[in-house]
Formats: sequence, structure tokens, C-alpha cells
Amino acid sequence: MPNTECALCGTLSPQPEVPAVEPPPAAKSAPDLDTRPAEPERSTIGAWMQSCPTCGYAAPDLSHAAPGVEQLVKSPGYIGCPGPFARHAYILERLGFYADAGWTALHGAWAFDDDGQEHAARRLRSAAISYWKQGKAAGQHFMATPPEEFAIVTDLLRRLGDFDQAQATARVALNDDHLPGLMQDTLRFQLSLIQARDTARHTLAELPPRPKGGARVTLE
Ligand SMILES: [Zn+2]
Repeated sequence: MPNTECALCGTLSPQPEVPAVEPPPAAKSAPDLDTRPAEPERSTIGAWMQSCPTCGYAAPDLSHAAPGVEQLVKSPGYIGCPGPFARHAYILERLGFYADAGWTALHGAWAFDDDGQEHAARRLRSAAISYWKQGKAAGQHFMATPPEEFAIVTDLLRRLGDFDQAQATARVALNDDHLPGLMQDTLRFQLSLIQARDTARHTLAELPPRPKGGARVTLE
């Protein structure tokens, strides 16, 4: 691991770098319903966030820090955050980048999923929803379209076991008459998972085949 100098305290420490990965074979490239990428990118998550061993600053690149961050990393709220993703999300929220704060919290939930730390993963999924709500109130979108936003929030709520809210969120999205086919399929699949009280991870590859031979459009 190359040494990186912390922009806040100057400590030089070995930090991971995100490796370049080959795109996956198409058949195995379906992301999770919360957009978590398939392998091989999936397993690079441990390198998505760096953490200074001296001052505790956490960021994708420790060698850069926005003005005001030096004070934030000394605050009890920051110090109490569970793990580097939660800490960086805290900074982003304080700087007003609510959409990015939500994504960073969700990435932290994925890292905790991998470590089997269920309680911390739940805490970060809740935080992601909360940051995104703050963002919407401030006019910040966190995905390209509202149906995609409803779909991912539905998944987070379902993973949290908040089935009533998950169902309500999916139904609001399904009320849109112009919903793209992939979104309809995804949200209906969510409703069936919610019905089954399923809180597990699922991927887009599991969507049932479309009836009437209709072609499914992809997300990209
Ligand atoms: Zn530092």
C-alpha cells in the first residue's frame, strides 16, 4: 500500500488504493437491488475509504480536505461515528452534501454487511435514508429520476425490516403511469419480497421474466 500524507495532520501512513478491475462478464454483472456492483468491483469496497491513524480523518483520499473539516474531525459527533464511511458521511452532511452523505453511508452499510456487523449496517442504512431526506428537502437529488430514488429507498427500508414503509414507498412509485418497465418489474419484485418478509440481499438478475415477450430496458 502506498503511503499517503494526511491533509489535516501531516501523518504519513500506508493507505489502500482502489484497484482497477476488469468489467465483469455480462451474465454475472447484475447489481444488487440497492445498486451495489457485482464482482469484481464489489470486493474493492475495503479500498473505497482511507483513514488517518493519528487524527481519525476519513476520506476517499486523505491527501485532500475541504476547509472546516479540521474542526469537524475533533467533534464528539464525528468521533462517535461507527467506522470510516460513517465518519466521511458525517463530514459530507455537515458541509451540506446530503446526497453524497447518503451514498457514503450506504457504502458503509455494505462494508458492515460483509463483516457480519448487522447492527452497524442497520444504523448506516437508516442514516442513508435520513441524509437523502435532508437532501430532498434542500433540493438535492440522489439518483437520476424519482422512480429510481423510490426504488432504492424501498430496498433500504425492506432490508431494515420496515415493511410497512417499504410497501408504501414502492406503491407511491408504482402510481407513476410513465414508469419504465425495469422500474415496474423491480418495484413489483420488491412487493413480493416485502410480502414474504424477506430482508435479504437480492439482485436485478432475480427479476422474473417479463410476460408477453416484452423486452426489458436496462438501467444504463
Ligand atoms: Zn491525520
